[in-house]
Amino acid sequence: MATHQRQVAVVGAGPAGLATAACLRRHGIGGVILERDEAVGASWRSHYERLHLHTPRVQSHLPGFRLPRRFGRWVSRADVVRYLEAYARHHHLGPRFGVEVERVDRDDGTWRLATSEGAVEADAVVIATGYNAVPFVPDWPGLDTFAGHWIHASRYRDARPYVGKDVLVVGTGNTGAEIAADLADQGAARVRIAVRSAPHVIPRTVAGIPTTLLGIPNQFLPARLGDPVNTLAQRLTIGDLSRFGFPTPDDGLIAHHRRTDTIPIIDVGLVDALRDGRVEPVAAVAGFDGGAVRLADGQHIEVDAVIAATGYRTGLERLVGHLGVLDEQARPKVSAGETDPRVPGLHFVGLRNPLIGLLNAIRLDARRVARAIDRELAVDR
Ligand SMILES: Cc1cc2nc3c(=O)[nH]c(=O)nc-3n(C[C@H](O)[C@H](O)[C@H](O)COP(=O)(O)OP(=O)(O)OC[C@H]3O[C@@H](n4cnc5c(N)ncnc54)[C@H](O)[C@@H]3O)c2cc1C
Repeated sequence: MATHQRQVAVVGAGPAGLATAACLRRHGIGGVILERDEAVGASWRSHYERLHLHTPRVQSHLPGFRLPRRFGRWVSRADVVRYLEAYARHHHLGPRFGVEVERVDRDDGTWRLATSEGAVEADAVVIATGYNAVPFVPDWPGLDTFAGHWIHASRYRDARPYVGKDVLVVGTGNTGAEIAADLADQGAARVRIAVRSAPHVIPRTVAGIPTTLLGIPNQFLPARLGDPVNTLAQRLTIGDLSRFGFPTPDDGLIAHHRRTDTIPIIDVGLVDALRDGRVEPVAAVAGFDGGAVRLADGQHIEVDAVIAATGYRTGLERLVGHLGVLDEQARPKVSAGETDPRVPGLHFVGLRNPLIGLLNAIRLDARRVARAIDRELAVDR
């Protein structure tokens, strides 16, 4: 009897795609990793220079190969790239580069992927294209009339072009917070940060222990149990930032995460810059008027440059939207290891925003998904 070689197509050679492919290998399942870029870890090659992981090394490695101790506790962006290259070599993963997957369909029990290099068939598919795949900029009225320079934060590398400039950073996710601090530290003349919704802020460590480790129970605890402790800890470590004009949320950290799917800012410089007045909070951006930015509180401010740290979208509609597997924010409806019975064999890794750190979640989810695919394909054999 001929044995059917089980083939899985993994889309994306970032941490999630590499981790899942490595776990599949351990189950004896082969396949192909399709990556539109020319190298592994494409997103980490283009992040801003100052970036170090906000999660400690021990919480950031992928399955079956640890981050080397010499990379230090807070791993730099360049070392994340080195690690992903070494990870792919260690597990003998050879992605097919320069192949963009355009659409995924299931036809007669087989998955068919339409790609920029032709069709690919597989028994199962893992979508690992990233939670932060497509830069998002709000549809601000008048942006096309703005006389200054503006970019999305995904194109920010370092503060050099902004030395001596008056800069507005829009958005208070981790990226906006860190870019504002970078600009303030590296010689921008004035830095303002536009705040639409008040974020939670936590220190990177408490008593030397990384808060992302201390915060692991936050992922699972009910808000009414965890949030009183979180609020007290935030008061003792960060204090009341509303004194510096930076608003604080009405709900606790866990409740806020469950309501908005946003993780807290892990402070790597913003708090000091707010305290010293080197970063000034302003209201949300309402629109643009030639040289000026119109704010939601009615103010008009003149700036040389705007950096829109306004987030990302998954961009999954084009790939799998027609299969009915996405929620209204284009995130998968099923969690890792589950599969929608209407489309068996379609899995997602890395497409969530958990409090335990995404790399940490990828390590767990990659294993879950590989086990699930092994079970599914065993039934077919
Ligand atoms: C600035 C920043 C800092 C972060 N810091 C941390 C941190 O400290 N700790 C932590 O745990 N997490 C962090 N994260 C979150 C997360 O861990 C990273 O975004 C991580 O890279 C996610 O891995 P991924 O493989 O899911 O996505 P990505 O790294 O984005 O990889 C997706 C890959 O898929 C490819 N791709 C996309 N679409 C297609 C297609 N249609 N066809 C073929 N290939 C495609 C892309 O080119 C890319 O290589 C951070 C995220 C950002 C943006």
